[in-house]
Amino acid sequence: MSKYILRLDDASDYMDIEKWQRMENLLNKYNIKPLVGIIPENQDPALVGVYERDPLFWDKVNRWKEKGWELAPHGCNHKYITEDGGINPVNKRSEFAGVPLEEQCSKIRTGMKIFREHGIEPRIFFAPSHTFDKNTLEALKRESDIRIISDTVANDVYYQDGFYFIPQKSGKVRKLPFRVCTFCYHPNMMKNGDFEYLEAFLKDKYSNFVPVQDIEMEKKSMSALDKVLRAIYFAKRR
Ligand SMILES: [Zn+2]
Repeated sequence: MSKYILRLDDASDYMDIEKWQRMENLLNKYNIKPLVGIIPENQDPALVGVYERDPLFWDKVNRWKEKGWELAPHGCNHKYITEDGGINPVNKRSEFAGVPLEEQCSKIRTGMKIFREHGIEPRIFFAPSHTFDKNTLEALKRESDIRIISDTVANDVYYQDGFYFIPQKSGKVRKLPFRVCTFCYHPNMMKNGDFEYLEAFLKDKYSNFVPVQDIEMEKKSMSALDKVLRAIYFAKRR
């Protein structure tokens, strides 16, 4: 049976509180514990310029933590400063890929500091727009104990360069035959129909959804199938 992870991107003190609450209610109903990407120091004008700052945001995060939700730094400030796709070139823009190592270290350090100030020791990282490079991994090694990345295309979790990679393939729930599958949602951007579609899928498939803690982390490298999937995915994308 495929294992599905629900990933929610772009939580921060600047977000659409009502839509996030609607998502939380939905996940409560089906007892699903998501992986949530929190922007530690949000400076993205598309978010900061749109939503009012929520001074109680981190109280909410700690409530999520109590419920067993997995919390991950999602970049540092969520601003795109390069047109680099890095080692997972899903998009040609990045906060990290192509950025000098020292600067990446500083970003990771800042994010870790903010998480720790709020009592959270994260285990997973994922970058804005899914884009990062080898220096991002090096920066994570130097500045944190994070050794798991949510991203890249593969059938199953694999281990490379000292990190476990949990594959992330789809922006919308659907039946996929892969061993581990992460569906990535942006609650801030969701429309009524997106919530309804998601609920219809959860009603049928909720038992496939597992918290990240239930995913086996094995030190095995990318399989032949993983490499084929990756090649097909990026060929289609081009
Ligand atoms: Zn994002």
